[in-house]
Amino acid sequence: MSINKFISDYLATADYRSGYLLQCLYEIQYQYGCISQQAIKLLAEKLSLSEAHIHGVIGFYAFLHDSPRGPYDILISDSITDHMLGSRELLDSLCDKLGVTPGIPREDGRVTVNTTSCTGMCDQGPAMLVNGWTITLLDENRIENISKLIEANTDIEQWPREIFQVTDNIYRRDLLLTDESYNGDALKSLIKQGDEHILEQIIASGLRGRGGAGFTTGLKWRFCKQATADLRYVVCNADEGEPGTFKDRVLLNTYADKVFEGMTVCAGIIGATEGLLYLRGEYRYLREPLEQILQDRRETGLLGKNILGEEGFDFDIEIHMGAGAYICGEESSLIESLEGKRGIPRKRPPFPVTHGYQNKPTVVNNVETFMAAALIAIHGADWFNTTGTKESTGTKLLSISGDCERPGIYEYPFGVSIQQILQDCGAKDVQAVQVAGAAGFTIPAEEFERCIAFEDVSTGGSFMVFNQQRDLLDMVQNFAHFFVHESCGFCTPCRVGSVLMKDLVDKVHAGHAGRYDLGEMQKIGQLMRSSSHCGLGTTAPNPVLDTLSKFPHIYEEHLKQSSYEPAFDLDAALQDSRDITGRDDAGAHIGTES
Ligand code: SF4
Repeated sequence: MSINKFISDYLATADYRSGYLLQCLYEIQYQYGCISQQAIKLLAEKLSLSEAHIHGVIGFYAFLHDSPRGPYDILISDSITDHMLGSRELLDSLCDKLGVTPGIPREDGRVTVNTTSCTGMCDQGPAMLVNGWTITLLDENRIENISKLIEANTDIEQWPREIFQVTDNIYRRDLLLTDESYNGDALKSLIKQGDEHILEQIIASGLRGRGGAGFTTGLKWRFCKQATADLRYVVCNADEGEPGTFKDRVLLNTYADKVFEGMTVCAGIIGATEGLLYLRGEYRYLREPLEQILQDRRETGLLGKNILGEEGFDFDIEIHMGAGAYICGEESSLIESLEGKRGIPRKRPPFPVTHGYQNKPTVVNNVETFMAAALIAIHGADWFNTTGTKESTGTKLLSISGDCERPGIYEYPFGVSIQQILQDCGAKDVQAVQVAGAAGFTIPAEEFERCIAFEDVSTGGSFMVFNQQRDLLDMVQNFAHFFVHESCGFCTPCRVGSVLMKDLVDKVHAGHAGRYDLGEMQKIGQLMRSSSHCGLGTTAPNPVLDTLSKFPHIYEEHLKQSSYEPAFDLDAALQDSRDITGRDDAGAHIGTES
């Protein structure tokens, strides 16, 4: 199909609204392998946007490209837990077999291999994406087979299906994962008991947002309901990009009906007619099954007009794809992204409950939160708030990965100790646990009696285990690089601070740092915390500041001297000039002190 027809057909389904720019770019990327200049020109004309604007959007999202990457575009997960499982060696092996340099399309233009941030498969890593499709449990065998398939020019549709298998790995179930209610039960309860009663139940349940911030869900819904507006929206944030988090993947794979039901309950309460599920690009394989579930719900009267025969209860849900930008997990960035723009966080206030998607009142909640809300609508507040602690009612799903025998999903009542979790997942000889992902907290062994709860150790779900054999500085370095990659670049403290911090961590890791550098890391970290525009920048220095205070020895061991030493090798930096001039004599080198 010509690109012109493809774009016209797609935009016709979206009423030529510029808000669908990102979705259209996503479709073009996966249909044609890149977004060509011709496609950009056509989109600019059809949507009355400037080409520069479209280039800006493409440049913001890691999965969009304006130059070809070949029929096989491979991204290997760069998460620290994948490193621990040998992903770097497998990357080297794949590049050797295919004869490619990471990040650069092969000379014949047929394949590109690179790394990407965490793909949400830490319980079955190392993982990769091929043209956006997930492959887990990589080992030398799989790498060998994949390289053969590529060299044989086998269409990805013909690759053995088993290599695309993703498993749930649920090891502990509690309130949410043992529930046996039927589709529609929450909506029947809403219709029977009334929206005000169900909202009161959700408030009384004490349910707080499961994405990490922990705002009271019922109050958020109440504020949105009270806002004056002709339209309201319900948005489900399924962009779990925090390294080490993968619980939403499992909920959407196996419990999607309950998540959609929670969104529909919310819509009935606040008076919304449109809902959007923002699905992270890494979960492309879930899109089709989710679309099918939505269609089934329409056909059984659980979505669409007059839901369950209730006059005026109209609501439907659309899936929007993310395209590889961690910052879009932040709710205002996510809304920008849903509107087809670069995901730059908005200034707040005003908050989305009054000025959200399309500047209308919008509830944005996490996948787990919507599922919990649906079940509270069925079983009532007491069913939920008698589990957990006073300030953190109910249960929490944890995504456990790293050095343990049984990585996977564990649902616990809030208040469970870290020690208990480590015992359950088969972790031994543990040096530290990283809770809440790259932006979270590093917990040393002497604090393992602490509890998972908003009032103690709060987490969106990521729980990574590091045994005594690990160098924690590898983790810190991985996170420092992650934040440089994921900073949206809008504000200076984060954009520049994250690069300075990464350079200093690299310097320590390479054994070139002195004590002065550790002081600089403290200063830069504090500045980022106090001056960054959004939560990404304020939390990005956490791994460095936390480990500097709790694990000073990991830095001390890498310090070679206490005096100042340059952050880079000046002589090595002049190599390009020597190559250009053809000189390699002593005079072309910076002298070194003996
Ligand atoms: Fe962007 Fe970082 Fe500033 Fe947030 S803190 S707006 S991610 S540059």
